[in-house]
Amino acid sequence: MKKKIAVVGYGGQGGWHADHALKSDVVELAGIYDIREVRNEMAREKGIFVYDSMDAVLADSAVDAVVIAVPNDLHKDLVIRSLEAGKHVICEKPVEMSSEAVQEMVDASLRCDRLFTVHHNRRWDVDFLAMKGLIKGGELGKVINIESRVHGSRGIPSDWRCEKEHGGGMILDWGVHLIDQILQMIDEKIKSIYCITTHITNDEVDDGFKLTITFESGSTAYVEVGTYNFIAMPRFYLQCEKGTAMITDWRQQCHVVKCKHWHESDVMPVQTAAGITKTMAPRDNVTVDEYDLARPESDVHDFYRNFCKAMDGAEPQLVTHAQIQRVMRVMEAAFESAEKGQVIDFGEVK
Ligand code: NAD
Repeated sequence: MKKKIAVVGYGGQGGWHADHALKSDVVELAGIYDIREVRNEMAREKGIFVYDSMDAVLADSAVDAVVIAVPNDLHKDLVIRSLEAGKHVICEKPVEMSSEAVQEMVDASLRCDRLFTVHHNRRWDVDFLAMKGLIKGGELGKVINIESRVHGSRGIPSDWRCEKEHGGGMILDWGVHLIDQILQMIDEKIKSIYCITTHITNDEVDDGFKLTITFESGSTAYVEVGTYNFIAMPRFYLQCEKGTAMITDWRQQCHVVKCKHWHESDVMPVQTAAGITKTMAPRDNVTVDEYDLARPESDVHDFYRNFCKAMDGAEPQLVTHAQIQRVMRVMEAAFESAEKGQVIDFGEVK
């Protein structure tokens, strides 16, 4: 039987959850609740039931789970209230703005014996899945460095995302996705964090950042979000012991160049205006193999399928409390690093 969900916050993302529920094979939409009447009216026009208060959502015994899709600073209270009312909870990302707040939410979930997870939907992005598959498959050997970027040129959306008190800024908005993805790809303890934030279009919150995560073995991940980039750099660039891979854009396949023979008998020099170079000359197919990976299959609705099975105790929840808290701690360390201009010891490596 389908589980019934109620969506709290019927804005951009709440609308996505409601639309999803209307065509889902595992959940159905009991209704929505938003503090803005204009949004409630939009829902009614679509034939969606609208609760007249948060209390009414929580009092509805037909509701199995509540989806919290309100601005970031409001997540904690609504999540805890829902758990205490006996509902399972999916909270939008970023879960909160501090690890203390996340711990309170996790504690409430354990105390109330209700599921609490975060909608890390970008674990189903095809570009991420291709990179993750390549790294985990070990085809290119150990990771030296992975670069994960998203670049736009429109600044921060001109809503609560511009304001610090509501949890605005790009570390919390996009960083949370890219950091979660990196931690899914590299299964190692984190040694240190270094981060620089940018404030090109906004003084109050970061409109972009450049973050380096150094892992125990020395592998590094460089995560960059930019909102003032009129030319976008590649989405992923992976440098490994046995080769290099790149995904230029979300819609593109992963291109791999794998080294077959390190030594070359003959290198054709490249002529530049100021002279020739062999060092920087491209390799040929005698020493490297070059190919594109097939794009992986992906269905973002598997997030809900897993959550519903987890409600029945048939599967563990995919986005775990420990993962949620670790991503939050990386973001906190990033803020601290940016503020102090220092490398932060992450404390996982003794
Ligand atoms: P939004 O501003 O479009 O919508 C937020 C809605 O919440 C508004 O309609 C507002 O009236 C309502 N609201 C505010 N306080 C409320 C309350 N106390 N009770 C009920 N409703 C309330 O914002 P958004 O873009 O939909 O973002 C909402 C959340 O979803 C944020 O946490 C954001 O980070 C997240 N989000 C996630 C993704 C993703 O891909 N996972 C994408 C976009 C947004």
